[in-house]
Amino acid sequence: MTYTFVTLFSNLVEGYFSDSILRRAIDKDLLGIKFLNPRDFSNNKHSKVDDTAVGGGAGMVMNSQPLYDALKSLKEEDENVHIVFLTPVAKPFVQNDAKRLATKSHIAFVSGRYEGIDERVIETFADEVFSIGDYILTGGELASLVMCDAISRNIDGVLGNSDSLTVESFETSLLEAPSFSKPKLYEGLSVPSEYLKGNHSKIRSLKLAMSECKTKFFRPEQLKKHCQGVK
Ligand code: SAM
Repeated sequence: MTYTFVTLFSNLVEGYFSDSILRRAIDKDLLGIKFLNPRDFSNNKHSKVDDTAVGGGAGMVMNSQPLYDALKSLKEEDENVHIVFLTPVAKPFVQNDAKRLATKSHIAFVSGRYEGIDERVIETFADEVFSIGDYILTGGELASLVMCDAISRNIDGVLGNSDSLTVESFETSLLEAPSFSKPKLYEGLSVPSEYLKGNHSKIRSLKLAMSECKTKFFRPEQLKKHCQGVK
């Protein structure tokens, strides 16, 4: 999988790949990371990339020309690139999207800044648009990284133990049961006694009960799906 981050601030993104699971995936050639800066495509003599909005309104908008030309060059280089725009005005990104997008060979994440991106550029180039939640970030870089991280976990070989994927929250409509580390007694707090007895069928039932409790408390709408047999 190749990811291209289309951003004015590549340094904000780069650091995330310097360590841990995604670093190892790059070292194993499972992932490749590229950057494309719209500023490098600006026709403006000062390399400006923002402008006031047509029709008025607060703040600046990312200028259409630099971003349009950057994405045109990206498409010319790889016509199969899957272009994703990050914007709060879109469907929310969920685990099923992460799994589906993990089958692509090249994804470009387009990060907005200022008050956002000229809508015509989105209309022209977007294969998909995603929001990562109902709040406003200062730019799309964090949102791109959130998506990239979640997608990468679903690429074969990226996780040391791919079994982790099958038991995680959002694989079914239930949230994962609580986890406990050693020692069994810590600061006077014990792990659930059933965990210590080694009866795996009882441990499974207890985990299911705890999953249901957590889901009921934090995500009641998910529990409803579980009870209706929806995944
Ligand atoms: N004026 C826009 C609005 O009200 O919808 C917000 C623009 S925001 C300050 C700048 C950029 O950050 C957006 O173009 C987008 O790329 C990114 N962004 C902000 N919040 C986001 C979210 N919840 N999900 C995805 N991207 C987001």
